[in-house]
Order: sequence, then structure tokens, then C-alpha cells
Amino acid sequence: MKRGIIVVFVLALFLLVGCVQEPLIDSQSIEDVTEEDLEQLPSDLQPQEVEKTALTGQANKWYDCQDPDSISTFDKNSLLTKSITTYNGGSKTDRCYTWYKGTLKEKTRLIEGICRQTNAGPKFNYWYADCNQKFGEDYKCVEDACVKEIPTFDFILVEEIPQEWIVKFNDDFKIKFSAYVPIIEYPDGTWEWDEDNKVSFNTEEKNLLKEAFMKAVYSMSRVDSYFTKPLPWTNGQSYYDWLKDSAGTITFSADINSLDNSNLINKVSFNGYNIISNINQGMLNTWKNQDLNSPDLGQGIINLIQIITHEVRHNNGVSHASCKGGNNMDDNLEIMGGHGVNVMLPHWMKYLLPEEMVQSAYDGNIDLMFQYFNFLDRMCSLDPVAKTIKQEDLSWVEEVSGFPLDFDPDILWTIEFTN
Ligand SMILES: [Zn+2]
Repeated sequence: MKRGIIVVFVLALFLLVGCVQEPLIDSQSIEDVTEEDLEQLPSDLQPQEVEKTALTGQANKWYDCQDPDSISTFDKNSLLTKSITTYNGGSKTDRCYTWYKGTLKEKTRLIEGICRQTNAGPKFNYWYADCNQKFGEDYKCVEDACVKEIPTFDFILVEEIPQEWIVKFNDDFKIKFSAYVPIIEYPDGTWEWDEDNKVSFNTEEKNLLKEAFMKAVYSMSRVDSYFTKPLPWTNGQSYYDWLKDSAGTITFSADINSLDNSNLINKVSFNGYNIISNINQGMLNTWKNQDLNSPDLGQGIINLIQIITHEVRHNNGVSHASCKGGNNMDDNLEIMGGHGVNVMLPHWMKYLLPEEMVQSAYDGNIDLMFQYFNFLDRMCSLDPVAKTIKQEDLSWVEEVSGFPLDFDPDILWTIEFTN
């Protein structure tokens, strides 16, 4: 009963106001923009000016309004495009406007021309819309429309990882560090493992490794269309879930086959643990320093994603084969072994990642990024006589991915073996 009275009262109020004059500013159009904010605006962006002008004799000026990008007054979709709204006597173009630049109060709104239905016909007005509130946090007002911001790989590297994401990461991935075994060299060229003098990673190295791994996984999580999609070897799981379930405990250990300390972190097998290998020190240093001038910045992330994917794939029980004088080969592409996923992953990334993100990694050295030809010469199924990849090795990749492999089969895929 009480509610009924209130409704009647509010209705009466509306009717009363409606009879006196049209409301100057309706709250739906200004949203959280305050009177004070409106006063800061240049006169041609203020809603008051619209009404004042109308009241001072040019009553017709704002009518016959037409907005080409909306089908209703507050059509959300119209915020996604920049358009010119016309009216009797002129036109207005949508605009981004930022208040209180450089202060804590800074806010940007899209000032969108709209047509409000009135008794006298469609009338021009402004809508002060918040892109975040309408479409989500990823949206920004850019070039006079609400635009989804696509993070670049370089941007992700300098972005702070949200605390709640780190908590989830630590829950999903267990990271351990094992000591690495140095080598004793003898003058006659022989050597042996120096088992008695194992070297442990120091705290700085541990943090660096963990952070690098975390950054790589985080960078993929920023691209939902990629990260939440199953890939051919993930058995129907999303890439993330596959990575999480197949990685188990990740142990970093050093390469006991390497004499080069600059390649400190580089070993695959360690008792019972699943190991990430081949993360070279140079790459980690690039990440650590977050050197924005480095041409390797975005590439470093993709490299590490490639390495992680390769090694984690071994944890599915897919190992390498011996052929053509090497034991670090895959039988064929179809088994999607370590090298196979290194062919497929960049192929998929190239098409599934947002273009802006791909471009960021292309900067600097276009030939290195998404370059999967090198991994194809690790396939035993290469025809040993013609030394070319057989078409049946590849056509299914096109079929499954839905994207053409962008190569000339007669030229690019002919790989010479030295042995
Ligand atoms: Zn491998």
C-alpha cells in the first residue's frame, strides 16, 4: 500500500514537471557526470547550452535529429562507433573528453550525440557515457568511441600482475628448484660431473625464473580468445587447464651438458619432477630488466611460451625419436611431440591472437617471431630423398586450425640435411 502511494506520488511529480517544461538534463544521459563536471566542459559540449539556445528563441534548432549509428535513444552499440549526429541547423561529432587530467579525479567519458524523442519530434542531446561501465574494464574511450584495449606483449611485460592472479597461479602451479651439477674438465678434453659440488640457484635467480614463468602464463591469460580455447594436443581442455594439469610440479634445474654458465637453466630430466628447460639467461635478463628498447621484449614472452609448451608436452608421455643422425627428433607432426607443438602453437597464435598483440611481437625481428619452419626439420617423416615435407604431414594442420599454412610447399619447406 505504502509503495503504491509512492508510485502515484512519483508519477504525479513526473507529470507536473512534464507539464511545466521538458527536464533540462535527464539522469540517464549524464550518468555519473556531476553538475560540477558539466560546468567544466566547453560550452558546445554542455547539455545546458542545448536547452538554453532552444529556449532563447531558436526552438527549432535542435530538432529533426538523426543519429546514423543508433536504433534507439540510449543504444549501447552507438558508443562503439564514432558518428556525426545531425539536427536542424547543424551537426555534432562524438567525442572523448577527459576531466581533471593528471589528478586522482581524472575521468574520461564518451560524449555521444543522441536523439531524444520528444513531443515535438527527435531532439539532439548529449549522452555522457562511461565505456568501462558499459562494456567492462578493458574498454577505453579512444578516438571518440569506446574501444576494447588489446594489451601488447610488451605492455604485459611492464604490467603489474594482479595479486589475486598470483594467488591462483601459486595454487595451480608448483615451482621447485633443484641444484645444478657443474662439470670438472681435464686437460685431455675429458670431463665428469662434479656431483660433490652441486650449485644451488640463489634467491635472485629463483625469483627471476619464477617471475618469468609467471609472466608467460599471465600474458596468455590476458588473451581469452586464445587461452580459453582447446588446441589440437590439449585433449579438449583449454590451453590453460592443459598446462596446469600436465605441468604438475615444475622444477628448474641447470644444464649439466653445458659448459656455458650463461646458459644456466637448461635441463629436462630430474627424478620424478617435470622440468622446464632451455630458458636461457639472456632471455631472462631481458625480462628482468624489462628493457623497453629491447627488440626481444615481446618475442621473449613468445619464446618462453614455446619452451613451456614444448616441455610440458613431454609430460603427456610424448617423447622424441631418433633419425637422420639425431635423437632429438619427432616421428612426425601428427604425434604433436615437443617440436610438433612448436610448429602448431605459433601457427595458432598467429591467427588467434588479436592483431595488435601479434604486431607487438613482430616489432624488431619479424623473421624470428611465429617462425616455425625450424621445428619442421625435426620431423623424421621428412622425405629423405626429396628432403621435403610431405603434404599429408601438413594438410591436417590447416584443416584443424582452419587457417592456411602460409608457405610455398616447393620452396620454404625444403630443408637440407647436412647428414
Ligand atoms: Zn623436447
